[in-house]
Amino acid sequence: MIEKERITEYIMDLIRIDSLSRKEKDVGLKLKKDMEEIGGECFFDDADKNVNANVGNLIVKTRGNKTNVPPFFLSAHMDTVGPGEGIKPRIEDGVIKSDGTTILGSDDKSGLTVIVEVLRTLKEKNLPHGDIEIAFTICEEIGLLGAKYIDIKNFRSKYGIVLDSSSPSHLVVKCPSAERLEFKIYGLEAHAGVCPEKGINAIKVASEAISNMKLGRIDFETTANIGVIRGGLATNIIPNYVHIIGEARSHSEEKLRAQVEHMRKCFNDAVTNYQLTFDGKTYRAKAEEDIERSYNRMDVSSESRVIKLVNQAVTNLKYDIEPIASGGGCDANYFNKKGIDCVNLGTGMKEIHTVNEYLVLEEFYRAADILLETIKLNAVNPT
Ligand SMILES: [Zn+2]
Repeated sequence: MIEKERITEYIMDLIRIDSLSRKEKDVGLKLKKDMEEIGGECFFDDADKNVNANVGNLIVKTRGNKTNVPPFFLSAHMDTVGPGEGIKPRIEDGVIKSDGTTILGSDDKSGLTVIVEVLRTLKEKNLPHGDIEIAFTICEEIGLLGAKYIDIKNFRSKYGIVLDSSSPSHLVVKCPSAERLEFKIYGLEAHAGVCPEKGINAIKVASEAISNMKLGRIDFETTANIGVIRGGLATNIIPNYVHIIGEARSHSEEKLRAQVEHMRKCFNDAVTNYQLTFDGKTYRAKAEEDIERSYNRMDVSSESRVIKLVNQAVTNLKYDIEPIASGGGCDANYFNKKGIDCVNLGTGMKEIHTVNEYLVLEEFYRAADILLETIKLNAVNPT
């Protein structure tokens, strides 16, 4: 049903338009023009004001050709990670890849393209469908910020699909909650050669804390990482400051709380081991922390209508799909939190966020077929 040549050409076009996070305007304008051509009502919201981007989320509404059909929600994100400028996509052996110097950007241009192609097909072939509401979001890659600031009152839909994961054989129904942890360790500066006795090395304090920390995979549903550490000025200065940024994620709120507590304790315990007294004064290492919820977990019920529709669509098309839990968050975390039951369907993107990223065309076409069938079923079989 999907026009393979057209959908392939379209994603190649989108990939060639740079759209790093906060710079999604060019790709947004193209999507707006193409959606208006098929009768979509489009506008950019003002999420950009909250996140300092050059454009907001693109909201699109298209009218169905059938009444009494519950509206269906779709979403994919417009931004990419870097290195993502001047991407030169090429097709080879059934996959699209970059020239190896940049990412490909199939995350999430494949999702955007699947939505556009499915909408085009529904209109051209006059297939049965109800109203469709779309959020093409900004700044997903820098903390789901477009979805975070989207005004959910723009939508009537109660359920829908985000297209932003790896395989159309998997339906992501569960994603973890995540916390962002920032620590600042203060020591005491001194000349490393002349008077090291008068210094407290902040790097040493931090490394003691981190070496005592459980990181990586904590259990089947919990992970933790220290990803950034900055500090120090010169080899002959005992550093008085280190800045550390990490994260923890879990599908269980209780386990997440425990892991965050553990990481805090490691820093707080480490600083108590470092204090100095000279010239009648006592100096102590100190830890400051800033812990912030990045996003909340999602867990879509198997009774949700969208899951039933996708399962029926996959059966009709004689494919297979299984529900899975993901270790990552996505825009769907926010949509679920805001009241839209949202699952995440894979589009064939692999090795994302690396210069080896590629898109498996067969899976990409399959995702489009599944989405088209799901939307038709929503209209044929309204409950
Ligand atoms: Zn993505």
